[in-house]
Amino acid sequence: MKVKIIGAFGSRLENKFSSCFLINDKIAIDAGNLSLIGKKANFVNHIFITHSHLDHILDIPFVIAELYPIRKVPLKIYGSNFTIRSLKKFIFNNRIWPDFTKIKIIKSLQYSLEFHEIKEGDKIKIENFEITPFSSNHIIPTFGYKILEKNKSGILISGDTWKQENIWKMANEDNLVKAIFIDVSFPKKFKKLAFQTKHLSTGDLEEEIKLKLKRKNISVFAYHIKPLFFNEVEKEIKMIRKKVYPKVKYVKQGDVYTF
Ligand SMILES: [Zn+2]
Ligand SMILES: [Zn+2]
Repeated sequence: MKVKIIGAFGSRLENKFSSCFLINDKIAIDAGNLSLIGKKANFVNHIFITHSHLDHILDIPFVIAELYPIRKVPLKIYGSNFTIRSLKKFIFNNRIWPDFTKIKIIKSLQYSLEFHEIKEGDKIKIENFEITPFSSNHIIPTFGYKILEKNKSGILISGDTWKQENIWKMANEDNLVKAIFIDVSFPKKFKKLAFQTKHLSTGDLEEEIKLKLKRKNISVFAYHIKPLFFNEVEKEIKMIRKKVYPKVKYVKQGDVYTF
């Protein structure tokens, strides 16, 4: 599978944009920066949302509003009951943004936007992919996603998270999983703030790897770094790579990985 990092960060500042992964150019995990790919966003028919915080949903309104006149099929948004309810109530409510679930694709009977509520452990099949949501540990209900390409390989994307068991357990138990993408928002010195806001700091990541990662052939990518602390987190990730685990890295916007 091809994984493209469209937005790598946990917020937006200058040229750093919020979280968005693109799988084989057609499935997005979060939409913090999806409009960056322009009209190509029209080939994305499935967006899996980790949670309803703004840095993860930001571009859904723009992508649908700008591209629905040339869409052929509905744009499907997947998320937990909490996420979907939040999107309907607070964004697509005709006050903040039009309710595109009531606006039809031109010359079609289908509506341009669909919301699909999914539950932990569901296996959503899209072409050769099977996508499974699991619970992460954030201040609001948040899904991580396991993305598996049939008979090939898999990755795990944490969504926003503090320490947790699920992602490490899934990584340890399934040899098809080649990489973990995990929220590391803050440098070591903000461990307390990380805990309060339920994100990992670099120190937390180090502890999690030491304690919970049993497989040693799996890549661990930090993402969702807060732009302001990027240089510090970058340095600390490099230290972890040197001293603790050689396969730890951080993602950059525009990176493309093949697994
Ligand atoms: Zn976030
Ligand atoms: Zn969040």
